[in-house]
Amino acid sequence: MTTPLLGQMMDVPLNVSSLIAHAARYHGTTGIVSRRIEGDIHRYTYRECEQRSKQLAQALMRLGITAGERIGTLAWNGYRHLEAYFGVTGFGAVCHTINPRLFPEQIAFIVNDADDRYVLFDTTFAPLVAQLAPLCPNVRGWVALTDEAHLADCASIAAPVLCYETLVAAEDGAFDWPVLDERSASNLCYTSGTTGHPKGALYSHRSSVLHAFGASLPDAMGLSSRDSVLPVVPMFHVNAWGIPHAAPLSGAKLVLPGKDLDGKSLFELMEAERVTFSAGVPTVWMGLLNHVRQQGTRFHSLERTVIGGSACPPAMLRAFEDDYGVRVIHAWGMTEMSPLGTLASLNWEQSQRPREAQHALLQKQGRAMFGVDMKIVGPDGAELPWDGVAFGDLHVRGPWVIDRYFRHDESPLVNGWFPTGDVATIDPDGFLNITDRSKDVIKSGGEWISSIDIENIAVAHPAVAEAACIACAHPRWTERPLLVVVKRAGKTVTRDELLAFYEGKVAKWWIPDDVVFVDELPHTATGKLQKLKLREVFRNHVLPTALGGECGGLGGS
Ligand code: AMP
Repeated sequence: MTTPLLGQMMDVPLNVSSLIAHAARYHGTTGIVSRRIEGDIHRYTYRECEQRSKQLAQALMRLGITAGERIGTLAWNGYRHLEAYFGVTGFGAVCHTINPRLFPEQIAFIVNDADDRYVLFDTTFAPLVAQLAPLCPNVRGWVALTDEAHLADCASIAAPVLCYETLVAAEDGAFDWPVLDERSASNLCYTSGTTGHPKGALYSHRSSVLHAFGASLPDAMGLSSRDSVLPVVPMFHVNAWGIPHAAPLSGAKLVLPGKDLDGKSLFELMEAERVTFSAGVPTVWMGLLNHVRQQGTRFHSLERTVIGGSACPPAMLRAFEDDYGVRVIHAWGMTEMSPLGTLASLNWEQSQRPREAQHALLQKQGRAMFGVDMKIVGPDGAELPWDGVAFGDLHVRGPWVIDRYFRHDESPLVNGWFPTGDVATIDPDGFLNITDRSKDVIKSGGEWISSIDIENIAVAHPAVAEAACIACAHPRWTERPLLVVVKRAGKTVTRDELLAFYEGKVAKWWIPDDVVFVDELPHTATGKLQKLKLREVFRNHVLPTALGGECGGLGGS
């Protein structure tokens, strides 16, 4: 064995704190604008953000938090949440962003599984925290992201409530970020996955910084210090696709929209803050486009937008690109991938092709970014050709793809690759096209619904012998759940009775939009439900909510 000749460069660990330190030092006066829960617009700079993040770190250490411990957040996109991204991770604790749209029992499961020490929350979620507190006995305190004047909103919480502004104000921020092992954990996000219980993806400092580098590249989000960036994608959903890390890395201005994500509110903020770049799921863009159309107006500063989380509808791509001159970057990824995997942007040769051919490419989920390797495999595990026709299970690997789930010993990897649960083709251009999902979850408005949970409730009904819940196309929410039911012999139950049976058992927006009764469900030879076949059978099923009637979606959140 010969000793390798080592490079002679500095071995500086990649730490998340370096992102905000860089922005504070080199883009110190660049703005962070937030629409606050309190209703007003808050403005400050990267320099102030770093200062307060350090104060938060000191406050948490004073509360006894040590490296590796988890701090939960239940919050919208805002400057205090951003401070948690850096203040929690900067001294080695783990920032665990929690999706408040889940059912309280699920959130409690997540908080307990993560073993969160404290949970920071926006006061909009005070009623939720009041429900969670008795279910989460190991949480030492709940920190309201507000000042003393607004603490009264939290009176219903029967557990210790601390005031964020008071904690931060008690510290001086005179503190240097420690140098952490770059492989140590920085952020934790839970995904609904295919089984009932959500599972945690635990990112490292190294994976987060590398992902931020990758996300900023020109053929990815292409962020720069000339951008004003508005992430609509929530900071509680896979770290807002890495934007809170990539924006300070690039020195881009950040505009954080708070809780009002309707078309009018977003448009007004985009125009007022001269936003050039945004990112979100198709459902929010639908609302934004509707507003712009109704007002007969146009975008005056918006140049490009990432659409992902669910497939971007062709009409949306055309509307943004052709009607409004806004470049669409269709993206695919997942929680297990931090989340970015592929993005659709045309290279020089492709951009010389006729417009129709360009649209056909942009409609796909795009090319793997540097740092992500992908392949499609058949049922025997053999790799399939990149001909745009053969479709198979999509496997990925790379430095920001998970190796295993938090607290799960068994590896989800297959020969060193992570199986995504998506079914795809890859064309000779290297463009990925997601054609289906082998995992059974349903994605409504960018948020998961576990089909297994829905089925388990259905079969608990005395008149139901067997039930399958599948995704059905919906114009607003992209997908909504459809319940297909086989009744027990001699029993009767109506659609409405069955839907009423879900009340109080799951979040309202998890309740299926329709029920179809059938004589039998398709099964595989081993007795498993054939969801792919069922989805094929109901491909053209029109949900009553798709006709403009009452709408499920994310109602109430
Ligand atoms: P999440 O972990 O919540 O980010 O969800 C990841 C999953 O969302 C992927 O595995 C896909 O099933 C789906 N997904 C994400 N982006 C897209 C897209 N652009 N087109 C189709 N499906 C997508």
